[in-house]
Amino acid sequence: MQIEDYIKAGKIAGEVRENVRKKDWIGKTVAEICDYAESEIIKRGAKCAFPVNTSLNEIAAHYTAEPNDTKTVSDSDLIKIDLGAQINGYIADTAVTVNYNQEHDSLVQAAENALEAAMSMIKSGVKSKDVGRKIQNTIQDMGFKPIANLSGHSLDQYTIHAGKTVPNMWSIGSFDFSENEAYACEPFVTAKNGLGFVRNGKVKNIFALSSRKRTKDDEADKVQEYIWNNFNMLPFALRWLLNEWEEKEARRLLDILIKKKVVKAYAILVEASGKTVAQAEHTFIPNQTGVTVTTIG
Ligand code: MN
Ligand code: MN
Repeated sequence: MQIEDYIKAGKIAGEVRENVRKKDWIGKTVAEICDYAESEIIKRGAKCAFPVNTSLNEIAAHYTAEPNDTKTVSDSDLIKIDLGAQINGYIADTAVTVNYNQEHDSLVQAAENALEAAMSMIKSGVKSKDVGRKIQNTIQDMGFKPIANLSGHSLDQYTIHAGKTVPNMWSIGSFDFSENEAYACEPFVTAKNGLGFVRNGKVKNIFALSSRKRTKDDEADKVQEYIWNNFNMLPFALRWLLNEWEEKEARRLLDILIKKKVVKAYAILVEASGKTVAQAEHTFIPNQTGVTVTTIG
């Protein structure tokens, strides 16, 4: 585990998240948000660990801007902006909910409080199920519901979901947090009368390599090579291919790679009853007395 790189990536991601939080996004498009946050990450000397997610209202996660996406933030929207920086593949993953709808102020507060409660109880040896219970209780005590099928995760070099699940609810399976691992914790919260889980939506605009093999299409194999060289196994967006390929051609080649199962496409995740979802997220490394939050900002 390369602690220095986790810390560097975390400082950058945290700073960018705080800048994103302060800005007024009303009237701006999701493409502008992605461009802003992604260029701020690069400007500070990191790479993007994944396309910035700009998930509005009932979309919980995994929406990123299409090229020239005109989806615009209104003064009644709530938007989750989830961003990642990486240094040598060591990732900082963090998110903020920017909210323009007063009705949802306490929903956002519940996500923030749950994350805070988790950060203050974790140290090496703490059980993940106890953290899940703490997050769940914090959210329920404020009159809301955690999203049951979304959770945090362990991180590894060039791997966002490295195998362990940091739950947002009490769960039967559990592991002990270790000083030798980085994790992301990310409570997702919705209304008490929501279903409290997400389902896949129709839109898929985040992709990642899933296996590396030749496709018998030279141009598609060039795209595959480009993805590997620039993003490794980390997620990417169609937008990120447009320096090299024209949009229509990039889409066609990406479709070939998806059909050949070289690339997988992630569906957006939508709250099953259409209720608004808030999120907060930090990356951290446990120690004997607490945690180092790498994305403190
Ligand atoms: Mn995230
Ligand atoms: Mn995450």
